[in-house]
Amino acid sequence: MGQYGLISRLLSPKYGGFLTFGSLASGKESASGQPTLSDLNNIYGLRRINRQTKVYGLIGKPVGHSKSPLIHNAAFREIGYDGIYVPFLVDNVKDFLDTYNTPDFAGFSVTIPHKEAALKCCDEVDPLAKAIGAVNTIVRRKSDGKLIGYNTDCGGAISAIEDGLVGITGSTGESPLKGRCFVVIGAGGAGKALAYGARDKGCKVFIANRNYDRAKLLADSLGGEALSLEQLNTFQPPRGAILANTTSVGMHPNISETPLAKDALRNYSLVFDAVYTPINTRLLREAEECGAVIVSGFEMFARQAIQQFLHFTGVGAPEQLMRDILVRSL
Ligand code: NAP
Repeated sequence: MGQYGLISRLLSPKYGGFLTFGSLASGKESASGQPTLSDLNNIYGLRRINRQTKVYGLIGKPVGHSKSPLIHNAAFREIGYDGIYVPFLVDNVKDFLDTYNTPDFAGFSVTIPHKEAALKCCDEVDPLAKAIGAVNTIVRRKSDGKLIGYNTDCGGAISAIEDGLVGITGSTGESPLKGRCFVVIGAGGAGKALAYGARDKGCKVFIANRNYDRAKLLADSLGGEALSLEQLNTFQPPRGAILANTTSVGMHPNISETPLAKDALRNYSLVFDAVYTPINTRLLREAEECGAVIVSGFEMFARQAIQQFLHFTGVGAPEQLMRDILVRSL
């Protein structure tokens, strides 16, 4: 029952259930946690599910707000892949993975607060994800059932920023990030992913964080430098610098907030914001007014999901469909 029981309702046809209950409309449930008939059919495609259907899902707490079931299920249907993607409300990620350990459970997305604990549960971890200390994607390898961990948050954000820079510099064959100054605001999960990704591409990385000790810890771990938020206001980076906000400042409903004063934005060639609700944050609007190229957290979100889909299925994702669904849902 409730949110924990949603998976037994959604996976009922896979395990031979004759029927599962759905409500006619949200608010009309006859028992706690019933999905609507519309969601059962239109999001989860319940009529397609059979004993062979592979199960994927989002491990997190909370998971109810996530857009991932919308986009991954639609993408499975689009390419004719026999899979279902469900929300897994999980308290303890190790217990969860030990329990759901059959080949049926083929892959997982991982979100707050489990990205670090999930890494420790993987049998093998991609080197960049290991350096970051967090995985957001786990795939069960078909040949031996081992769990392989990746971090597509990093690749999603960094590739979006590289594409934004190519718009300025043109393509030169090597990463346009190489040799640039890359300033990350925030030292949490997204901050680490951006900072390691940028360092990996040959950037000089600066970390500015509200809690200075966390900034210092992260900066020291990757050979970068730490700044306080006060120092960031007057920081003069070299030409061509990148600024990446990885805090939740400016996120809905606090959309009038911004992590850095507009005047300071003039020092950057490209400004990225991990926040994607709204897509066009105050930071991005002001950065654009200052002449910077802007890259939205929407791009990071879309690209991490697209890369994740490739890890899950081995097949390229229907990118435009996933982006269209995501835009409509925000
Ligand atoms: P997290 O691990 O909790 O880290 C939060 C960071 O934000 C910390 O550095 C924290 O500073 C800082 N922070 C929070 N509130 C602040 C405030 N009022 N003023 C200044 N700094 C503040 O969270 P996360 O997972 O990294 O997520 C951060 C943001 O990135 C969220 O908005 C999330 O939605 C977004 N995100 C987007 C994507 C995407 O795909 N676009 C992916 C992941 C995350 P302290 O250390 O001082 O507490």
